[in-house]
Amino acid sequence: MAKTETPRRIRGTQDIFGDEQRRFAHVLSTFERVRALYCFQRVDIPVFESTAVFARSLGETTDVVSKEMYTFEDRGGDSLTLRPEFTAGIARAYLTEGWQQFAPLKLTTSGPVFRYERPQKGRFRQFHQIDAEVIGAAEPAADVELLVLADQLLRELGISEGVTLQLNTLGDAATRDAWREALVAHFEAHRGELSEDSLTRLEKNPMRILDSKDPRDRPIADSAPDIDAYLTPEARAFFEAVTAGLDAAGVAWERNARLVRGLDYYRHTAFEFVTDKLGAQGTVLAGGRYDGLIGSLGGPETAGVGWAAGVERLAMLIDEPAVPEVDVAVVAEAQEFESAATKLTAALRRAGFTVEVSVTGNPKKRYEKALKTNPAYTISLSRRDGLASVSERGLRAKFQPDQFRAIIDSATGGLE
Ligand code: ATP
Ligand code: MG
Repeated sequence: MAKTETPRRIRGTQDIFGDEQRRFAHVLSTFERVRALYCFQRVDIPVFESTAVFARSLGETTDVVSKEMYTFEDRGGDSLTLRPEFTAGIARAYLTEGWQQFAPLKLTTSGPVFRYERPQKGRFRQFHQIDAEVIGAAEPAADVELLVLADQLLRELGISEGVTLQLNTLGDAATRDAWREALVAHFEAHRGELSEDSLTRLEKNPMRILDSKDPRDRPIADSAPDIDAYLTPEARAFFEAVTAGLDAAGVAWERNARLVRGLDYYRHTAFEFVTDKLGAQGTVLAGGRYDGLIGSLGGPETAGVGWAAGVERLAMLIDEPAVPEVDVAVVAEAQEFESAATKLTAALRRAGFTVEVSVTGNPKKRYEKALKTNPAYTISLSRRDGLASVSERGLRAKFQPDQFRAIIDSATGGLE
């Protein structure tokens, strides 16, 4: 009979273990702690939605919708899509769950997202995002709070040094329309020099030419008109309020007039935290204000602003987190003490200590094996000169001698 082939891991997915897992968990626990400081609530939403949720809210012309989504028909014939990001699903939930009554709503979530992209360092097909959104707040204070949150997260992860906040405004609807017209005129005048991709963008989404990575597009993108000349007084005041808030909170930022969000519903603030330490995958956290999104899903006009960050990219940047310490290693150096060791171990763990227990394998080697877990303290149960004996040893200064006496006595009282 032919040997069964071992299944393969799907390209672009990950099995996260060991050091990588510790990095990953550290990013998530830090996010969890920091979001609570800002009084954001955690929300969990489905991994898949009706395809229309993403197609309508992200827009048919975006890379994500046109070529990156995992879309399939379920057994009932409905078109479903694995979430490529969180914002659309949260906006859908806001409408279907009647969360309008809680507005303004400060939410965070995290979990796997899916995009059919070419896998490379920092780019996966199933990756993970942390995400923060404020829905129903039209004031620049919401943008500021989200950005200060992001900044504190990066500081607490110890990576703010190498990461820069780049900030831009896309103005209000009137600003955007006027600027768009000026951009189209500029790009039309340079049609012959643009890349094929940018010629398509010119038809569908001309702003995206501004952040093209193609060297043929760069000179034309760089010489394109800035939005500044087209800002309405309201849009200018909004941007000034955001930058003043960041300055007041002590968050460093720099203006990047080429930073855009291609979708029509983006307004005002657009931002990215970028690093040069991850090659082409340099954006670690990105977001902006999307006041038109909920309207485009068929809901009432509702303001919104938010960001998402790639957990893998953050995890690659942080220092390696410490391996969790073992407080106590309990060793049964003879089979007859195994149940006493189990009792003692349970008592220590219930008292809140981290305990590794050695009750399997060669009894004589158990002590050596226990030392490999690098415990701060060992408690060994053995028979010495015919007598049951408990020996303790502190290996690091973490615990006092005899600190565990009472627990040991009550767990091993009957030892003979
Ligand atoms: P990029 O330009 O790198 O493709 P993007 O504009 O598609 O990024 P967003 O949609 O803004 O990214 O997603 C937010 C964050 O999610 C990114 O800043 C990045 O950290 C992370 N991210 C995006 N795509 C991937 C991926 N395929 N693998 C890992 N992380 C990703
Ligand atoms: Mg992308």
